[in-house]
Amino acid sequence: MLALQSAEIDYMLTPLGLARGFQEQLAGREDIRIIANPPNGIRYLGFNTRRQPMAMKKFRQAVSILTDKEYVTGTVLAGVADPAYTMVPLPDPAAEREEVEIKGSVSSPVDPAPRCRFYDRCPMAAEICEISDHPPLEEVGPKHLVACYRV
Ligand code: SF4
Repeated sequence: MLALQSAEIDYMLTPLGLARGFQEQLAGREDIRIIANPPNGIRYLGFNTRRQPMAMKKFRQAVSILTDKEYVTGTVLAGVADPAYTMVPLPDPAAEREEVEIKGSVSSPVDPAPRCRFYDRCPMAAEICEISDHPPLEEVGPKHLVACYRV
């Protein structure tokens, strides 16, 4: 910042943005122009899974189901955000987004149905997924655990 202020360098790139103190230092200087992009990013609710009740998968699933994502993005965040329905959002905000239609629902975390919990919304569901309990977690490769009858 000192090098920029003393004209030793012509520009400075700060991917994380300028700290408020630096913004105040540069405010009003006609020889320095600040170009800022609108903030962009992903916000998420993280769980400390080393503590109870967050260590319980059913608790985390319940929080996910009970969280009104449309209300949070539409009202709390004033419509400047979109709820993420997939784990991997599109990295290009200008790209055409296909509406993600989520069919069915997951089993109640409190009283799960006696079948794979994803049966109602899984595009790969088969008869075995409906007539059997939720598939057990099995190692299918080194450090690769899967709970699915179709893998
Ligand atoms: S066992 Fe696998 S394929 Fe079957 S419903 Fe569950 S996730 Fe889908």
